[in-house]
Amino acid sequence: MSKFIFITGGVVSSLGKGIAAASVGCLLESRGFKVAIQKLDPYINVDPGTMSPFQHGEVFVTEDGAETDLDLGHYERFTSQISSRGNNYTAGRIYKQVIEKERKGDYLGGTVQVVPHITNEIKNAIRNEAKDVDILIVEIGGTVGDIESLPFLEAIRQIQLEEGSVNALFIHLTLIPFIRASHELKTKPTQHSVKELLSIGIQPDILLCRTEYPIPRDMKAKIALFCNVSEEGVITARDVEHVYEVPLYFAEEGLDYIILKYLGLPLSERHLEKWENFVNRLKHPKDSVTIGIVGKYIKYEDSYKSLKESLVIGGVANNLAVDIKWIEAEELESEGPKAKLSDIHGILIPGGFGERGIEGKILAVQYAREKKIPFFGICLGMQVATIEYARNVLGLKDATSTEFDKNTKNPIFYKLRDLLGDETFGGNMRLGKYDCVLKEGTTAEKAYGVKMISERHRHRYEFNPAYKELLEQKGLTISGISPDNKFVEIVEIKDHPWFLGCQFHPEFKSKPLAPHPLFREFIKASYENRLKMEEKK
Ligand code: GLN
Repeated sequence: MSKFIFITGGVVSSLGKGIAAASVGCLLESRGFKVAIQKLDPYINVDPGTMSPFQHGEVFVTEDGAETDLDLGHYERFTSQISSRGNNYTAGRIYKQVIEKERKGDYLGGTVQVVPHITNEIKNAIRNEAKDVDILIVEIGGTVGDIESLPFLEAIRQIQLEEGSVNALFIHLTLIPFIRASHELKTKPTQHSVKELLSIGIQPDILLCRTEYPIPRDMKAKIALFCNVSEEGVITARDVEHVYEVPLYFAEEGLDYIILKYLGLPLSERHLEKWENFVNRLKHPKDSVTIGIVGKYIKYEDSYKSLKESLVIGGVANNLAVDIKWIEAEELESEGPKAKLSDIHGILIPGGFGERGIEGKILAVQYAREKKIPFFGICLGMQVATIEYARNVLGLKDATSTEFDKNTKNPIFYKLRDLLGDETFGGNMRLGKYDCVLKEGTTAEKAYGVKMISERHRHRYEFNPAYKELLEQKGLTISGISPDNKFVEIVEIKDHPWFLGCQFHPEFKSKPLAPHPLFREFIKASYENRLKMEEKK
């Protein structure tokens, strides 16, 4: 029978509940348990696919094409989980399912209510994910006290009642603020937050206390007493330099030991050696490399979460620290590429939507191509790289994507859906995992070391095959293509140290213990460029 761990958050948002849930998963896997992590988000959107990255950060795409919360990225990076649609539910999706059932007549004769209909739907969503694992970790989004999260909290309260407290554990992440004026850590907000939880019938078993300073023993005793938690259940969650250190700190605090004890599970040996080795290399790089990300949402780093982590992980694979410079694409238009890019060792253009900043991105590609600076274009980045090639090498000055100019005479990228009809892809984007065949001897094939790969997509526009031959004749290499030969997935150029654009999002698949080959090789090439640039000086 599966066990459940429910993680809630209190006092303020942004305490790192996602990282905490992922770290608990990492620790339990390190003790040999089969674990899954699920995120329940209390907002009404059916999924975060239509939310602005400014509001909600990155949309993380799963293998089965679900657009999900960015916390799923943490779960995948910290554990062996490969998430799917069931790992992320929003209130909107739950309500939608219930309303659809009501319309079908499933509740005929009944009054449909939050309790029990919405809560039952939530409980089903949770239990479905627990089927094949030893332990399901469920993170409840939002902060305790929000109106929105009440049905979720009620559902997990019921699950504990039904499963018994040895099978369902409550972990509450809270804040112990440090008051500078009096030089003290304060426990009152935590007491209030636990009171709030108690008022809805949830008694936390473990408190993860976020703090800038170690919590003294007597303070832990006080928190335990006031919050009705045993002293060993009060865990210090110290601020750390790198998120990947969190599992190691939690291990030091004995969090996994306490969880297993409370859940009545055997205390198998912990194997965190590979993780420790990764953290060690992360903390002691032999040198550094500067990567410029030319994008649109750069002021809000969460919108490129997986990308940033993939660069860090790719750096560690080369024993390098990666210094990321976020460059607003529009500034390249006004100030020229040289002003912004001359001290950058590798240029990356990430995914994106809409016309703003496109011309700046094209300038960045041209700069990288002509000055032989390693270039990595992802999704939109691949599209602008190809457009730049069509404009400046093929001489099609008005080449673009129909996303930016509907009536262009040279649509290098176009919306396939418009031509083939909606049914081709079901939704309105190509989403989730697709196979791709690599061409022998190319940068892509050398990086992956295999012929066939599968990567995750999230885009509407596609390479227009009408331009394939022309571009190839002028030296663009098409190194990755779908098995049915229809979709161009990777482009490269030859006489260049490293220049690759891919239509998919490799950043969703890079993990500390399995760095993605494209990021690893891009960082390697960028570092070689750094050495070359320094030689020239
Ligand atoms: N806007 C482009 C498209 O929809 C690229 C999308 C992306 O980069 N994720 O095809």
